[in-house]
Amino acid sequence: MKRPAAFIDRDGVKNVEHDYVYKIADFEWVPGVFDGLRRLQSAGFALIVVTNQAGIAKGYYAESDFDRLTAHMLEQLTAEGIQIEKVYHCPHHPRAARADLRRNCACRKPAPGMLLQAASDLGLDLARSVLVGDKSSDVEAGRAAGVARCVLVRSGHTFSLADQALADACVDDLAAAAIWLTEPGDGIAGNADNNYHTARPEGMHRPYSGPDSLKT
Ligand SMILES: [Mg+2]
Ligand SMILES: [Zn+2]
Repeated sequence: MKRPAAFIDRDGVKNVEHDYVYKIADFEWVPGVFDGLRRLQSAGFALIVVTNQAGIAKGYYAESDFDRLTAHMLEQLTAEGIQIEKVYHCPHHPRAARADLRRNCACRKPAPGMLLQAASDLGLDLARSVLVGDKSSDVEAGRAAGVARCVLVRSGHTFSLADQALADACVDDLAAAAIWLTEPGDGIAGNADNNYHTARPEGMHRPYSGPDSLKT
């Protein structure tokens, strides 16, 4: 049986948003991230990182810098009992300084390419999967991939009311998103004070049963 995934953006969600983070010294965990990821993992979601890394296209840093930072991130997560199944990144940009990375690719969010690739690589059930991001482009990628629930967090980029309306919920950070996503009934009742939830016409939400652990 295919597993549901939690697709997690990196900058502004896992680590504090500074423009183009590639140095280990600039990688600063958002408080509560470990608890949030453990919660999602315990609920049965495969944890997948999906991150746009236009800084590579723009020549601000190299693929090897990204790889080094990823290794550092995964090492710390492993020490916290958190297993990230795979990290997907898009190194492209339509106006890249590097000609080899200059393109309108299918992987740069809001395109759903990284999510679709992960589903194919790892056998994921997108219709029972969730996404946590800090930009409308994250949510749009989730929607385009057919992910059941997309949550915006306020720990990264600021976003507009229109952006909020795209999301199923808007909460402070990944820890809060994890609670919202794992509460019965999507946590709406349990987190009423902390949630922005848009009223949607019937049918806009796909049926969502969540990971198996939530059904018992
Ligand atoms: Mg981000
Ligand atoms: Zn790309």
